[in-house]
Amino acid sequence: MFSAGEERSSQSGQEPVFGSGRRGGCWATGVSPCGGGRSHEHFITRGLWLERTITVTGLPFSPQTAERSIDDLSSRSLCRDHNSQASVLDDAAIDMNNALRRLSELQEARTRVRGRIIQPVQFRIDGRLLERWALKTVMNISILNRSQLGSWRPPGWLAEVVFGRKSLPAGCGIALVTKVGENHQPGDQVDFAFGTRQGGAGPEMAMITLRRGFRFFLTWDVPIAKVAMTVDGEEYFGASNALMPFRRWNITDGARDLRLALCFDWEGPSRRDPNVVRLRKKYKSPPRS
Ligand SMILES: [Zn+2]
Repeated sequence: MFSAGEERSSQSGQEPVFGSGRRGGCWATGVSPCGGGRSHEHFITRGLWLERTITVTGLPFSPQTAERSIDDLSSRSLCRDHNSQASVLDDAAIDMNNALRRLSELQEARTRVRGRIIQPVQFRIDGRLLERWALKTVMNISILNRSQLGSWRPPGWLAEVVFGRKSLPAGCGIALVTKVGENHQPGDQVDFAFGTRQGGAGPEMAMITLRRGFRFFLTWDVPIAKVAMTVDGEEYFGASNALMPFRRWNITDGARDLRLALCFDWEGPSRRDPNVVRLRKKYKSPPRS
């Protein structure tokens, strides 16, 4: 079911050339004034990992599968001020990942227990912050992978959405990619992939996979209802089987309710779920080297 240990991050795609220095500025410079010099922004949130070393594949500077320190996974694409303003978004992603961790542990334990499970456990995630985190990751990865993206760049206004200054067009945003009855895969993999519609000029969507194969599907140009995606040979249609906004996932073992749930707030600004915040102490990333 769920196995702790080796974790993997991968960026799908060809083999781009890493070149953070050449064009270099902060991608949020049009949003508000920069400050503090360059930061070492992790292009995928550092706090998603508990191990110092992870297996990575498909990275521009490490296209082959390799063991890397999590502190290698940074680029100088944000200034310190913008990086620190965006840290609340990293927290939302960490909370999401931690909730999945804890629910996986409990699912495994409760599946083995005979008899009725009495105590419900529920974690609540701020969907809007998670959505902005996903868009921030799009910005980071588009800079990291720019040599393979050709002339395409994310639209300028996307940075403003990341920092909460603008909203996405109607119908765009984050959705959970799932099908009724689908089994979520075990594993501790984090994955990012851009998607382009047939005939499209450039990426119009992205897919981010968190623990246990939880896939989020993200659009910023085209309404979710208008896109389809093939993942591992399975077709997903925004309109029919991606849930948006995703509100509640009840974990079951066949027909048996394990009384475990993951919920999303879309109304925001919501207060952090104290049960989720508590998990940050339980699952700690190693200190920076
Ligand atoms: Zn900046």
